[in-house]
Amino acid sequence: MQDVVILGGGVSGCIAAQLLASEGLESAIVEPLARPGGNHQSWDHDEMTFDVGSIFFRTGTPFLRMFPFLADICVPVKPALQRIVDDGGLLTYPFDFRGDFADRGALEKLMILGDITWNRLWQRRPGTAREFVHHRMGSRLGRTTGLLTYMERMFGEPADSLSISLADKRMGQVSRASTLRKIRKLIRQDPARRAKPPQHMVRPQAGFAAMYRQIYQHLESQGVRIDLDCAIESIRRSGDGFTIQTADGIQQARAVVNTMPLNILCNLADIPVARALPQVSLKTICCSFRGDRNFDGNVLYNFLSTGMWKRMTVHSDFYGKTPDGRAYMSVEFPYRSEIASDIALLEDLRSSTRSVGLFDGDLQMAGSHVTPYAYPVPTIANERTSAEMLEAITAFGICSVGRQGRYDYIPSANKAVNAVTRILNASMTRPEGTP
Ligand SMILES: Cc1cc2nc3c(=O)[nH]c(=O)nc-3n(C[C@H](O)[C@H](O)[C@H](O)COP(=O)(O)OP(=O)(O)OC[C@H]3O[C@@H](n4cnc5c(N)ncnc54)[C@H](O)[C@@H]3O)c2cc1C
Repeated sequence: MQDVVILGGGVSGCIAAQLLASEGLESAIVEPLARPGGNHQSWDHDEMTFDVGSIFFRTGTPFLRMFPFLADICVPVKPALQRIVDDGGLLTYPFDFRGDFADRGALEKLMILGDITWNRLWQRRPGTAREFVHHRMGSRLGRTTGLLTYMERMFGEPADSLSISLADKRMGQVSRASTLRKIRKLIRQDPARRAKPPQHMVRPQAGFAAMYRQIYQHLESQGVRIDLDCAIESIRRSGDGFTIQTADGIQQARAVVNTMPLNILCNLADIPVARALPQVSLKTICCSFRGDRNFDGNVLYNFLSTGMWKRMTVHSDFYGKTPDGRAYMSVEFPYRSEIASDIALLEDLRSSTRSVGLFDGDLQMAGSHVTPYAYPVPTIANERTSAEMLEAITAFGICSVGRQGRYDYIPSANKAVNAVTRILNASMTRPEGTP
């Protein structure tokens, strides 16, 4: 019997395997999907490479410290994050001190500052995402920056029902950048004294699979067994441990670490649930373009009040244009239950961007891909349901971690390292009999 079976070979599964190996525990990753990397996915169309979008790695951060050899194969880039707003303005993402504040008239600036101060002093303790944004940046900036519209488009829920924890994790970056203290700091700060930014990188041009193959090789060299494309049929308690029935046979382990979606885990382990947790799915359309795109950022966020798309990543800025000179980009469309056809999505992108003067030229689509479990839907009710599910899973004896495994919006691989480490340290006691 092995010490631990890890369900899922994405970011969190690899982190868990590394942590367990460094504790001298024997583990095996069982990944039901045929490709490595979980939701770190990429696809090729003709000479172009696309992915699930805007995934940057930075030197000195936990993920690269854990797997430092990735720095040799990833591509150094300079992220240029922009957001498009309703008057056609292109502003820095997440907050543009000049565009959102300094360039406004004196009266407007006073109203913004007064609004932030009033909300800080008199608004009751925030309970929802809308209240959080109002509390942090005032209702005026919350509206004019387009932040609330963006948040609602991303999760398909009114900001009044989104929980404050989501607002803090996903949108905290934006609202923190626009607090009174930050605005004051920016006014006073000498640009020459700002801290040197770390080196950003994107995945190798060969794709996420190439990157994960290196991670898997590294884990295997430490004794981790990895079974890809291995459908899991059931998980049962047996004696002091667990029996995992897979399409390839039976695996037995003293402990199980889960990183798969909670709905799927509860179904496999026969854990009763009150209701299934909803998900935000993502359709990514892979586009190419020739002409004047009229923005120079390599990531563009849709803060317009129109358009179903949420974010675009111009991969050709990282990997080079096609031999015949076309730029290419992934464009993400979040959805809850039904999504429009590819043609309708392309038309949505064309009309919303042309209305603000972008993409003057030939915009075409090369393909599309669906990510069914892209984000949790962080309403207050769903957080309560996921907490109940996690309680039942813990009582069953499984330690569940990661974005899917905790129904938690973990925005990056770095945050995943911290979250998985914290939970594994807190909840994994060494199985009896191990050194
Ligand atoms: C839209 C989007 C944007 C992202 N942006 C960033 C970014 O900017 N920076 C960054 O570092 N990372 C980014 N990520 C990746 C994100 O960080 C990782 O998904 C996150 O770290 C969680 O990894 P995880 O292993 O917990 O979960 P996941 O990789 O989401 O999944 C874990 C496991 O769940 C199982 N699973 C997932 N979906 C299914 C399914 N449909 N059916 C059956 N099993 C399934 C698989 O076994 C998988 O290995 C992004 C991901 C998405 C979807």
